[in-house]
Amino acid sequence: MMARLVMKFGGTSVADLDRIRNVATHVKREVEAGHQVAVVVSAMAGTTNQLVTWTKEAAALHDAREYDAVVSAGEQISVGLLAIALQEMGVSARSWLGWQIPILTDDAHGAARIADVDAAKLGERIDQGQVAVIAGFQGISPDGRIATLGRGGSDTSAVAVAAALNAERCDIYTDVDGVYTTDPRIVSKAKKLDKISYEEMLEMASLGAKVLQTRSVELAMVHNVRLQVRSSFDAPDSPQGTGSGSSYVGPGTLVCGEEEIVEQEVVSGIAYTKDEAKITLIKVADQPGVAARIFGPLADAAINVDMIVQNVSEDGERTDLTFTVPVADLERAVSVIEAACDTIGYEQILSDTDVVKVSVIGIGMRSHAGVAQKMFQTLADKGINLQVISTSEIKVSVLISAEYTELAVRALHSAYGLDDEAAA
Ligand code: ASP
Ligand code: MG
Repeated sequence: MMARLVMKFGGTSVADLDRIRNVATHVKREVEAGHQVAVVVSAMAGTTNQLVTWTKEAAALHDAREYDAVVSAGEQISVGLLAIALQEMGVSARSWLGWQIPILTDDAHGAARIADVDAAKLGERIDQGQVAVIAGFQGISPDGRIATLGRGGSDTSAVAVAAALNAERCDIYTDVDGVYTTDPRIVSKAKKLDKISYEEMLEMASLGAKVLQTRSVELAMVHNVRLQVRSSFDAPDSPQGTGSGSSYVGPGTLVCGEEEIVEQEVVSGIAYTKDEAKITLIKVADQPGVAARIFGPLADAAINVDMIVQNVSEDGERTDLTFTVPVADLERAVSVIEAACDTIGYEQILSDTDVVKVSVIGIGMRSHAGVAQKMFQTLADKGINLQVISTSEIKVSVLISAEYTELAVRALHSAYGLDDEAAA
């Protein structure tokens, strides 16, 4: 059987007709190379935002099923246009909406999860050599309504389709040419990674490296779908146009299982996120049950607490407790805590949004000691104060004042030997 390939193109890659033709050229190249191809596309850049705005303007509180009917519409346009562009180039193709496949989801409209992809009809058609052009971001809920997967959801659609089709690889074409050791906008010496493990990519994605939707990486890890992140703006044909066999597309970054990564560095990347805010409770009683009384109500309000630090109490009676929550939930978190003031018992509540969480990520940490120490020493040498620290098996994170973001990320990038010496 010929190798099956899933290709996914984001909104900027299909932003206008010229770009859609460019996408069609990429697809044609893979078809001519002998692949069976399914293409998953997002809506044309800006479209989904516009649709979301309209639903909000129509009514601040609206039926989530109708929200999905509206915001899923962008992908219907892009799949039709891409199918036409392919046909124009002599490539057999047809469009597929989520319900036509079908891609079955749960009923969490607006943030639905894929339950199953029935690849039977799809497989039949691509076996016959027809390119399947699939609308990302959408599926059909148990009650037969259109459901969307949450913003950025086409990445997840692509991975789910790749898993269902047993594809050899899922190529995610985007406006960057791969995954970098850190944000190239603040560190010019950032290097493109040839390979990164699912687990590291998951940390990078959830820490704000916006290349892939976090959920798509989770799904890829579970189903062992190899993801190749690459640029759709590299010329699909070689400069001389010497034919399909010699077409050049940069290889990008492969997201794969760690067993595929031979030369694993201890640290693979430095991530940072400004999406967290700090809350400090002053003079909380130092006795059993207090943490439960604080974090219980926050959990009930579905607020995710990330980092936590509790100081030693000097008098054995009262202590300060600091933790972080998503900035978007800060106001809610403060009111939840204030409402529980009597049961918790504290003197004062302080909050701070002027913070950044900087993380060092690498699966090599499991087998190497001293990674955290190097981080602390590097930041100490720069005179940067660490407000909160948290660690996991493959990550060390610190919360610092936002004004030191660039200084900290650059210093750490050098300290772990990640600088690309060839770069400026
Ligand atoms: N069009 C959807 C969005 O803008 C899905 C996607 O682009 O992945 O969120
Ligand atoms: Mg995207």
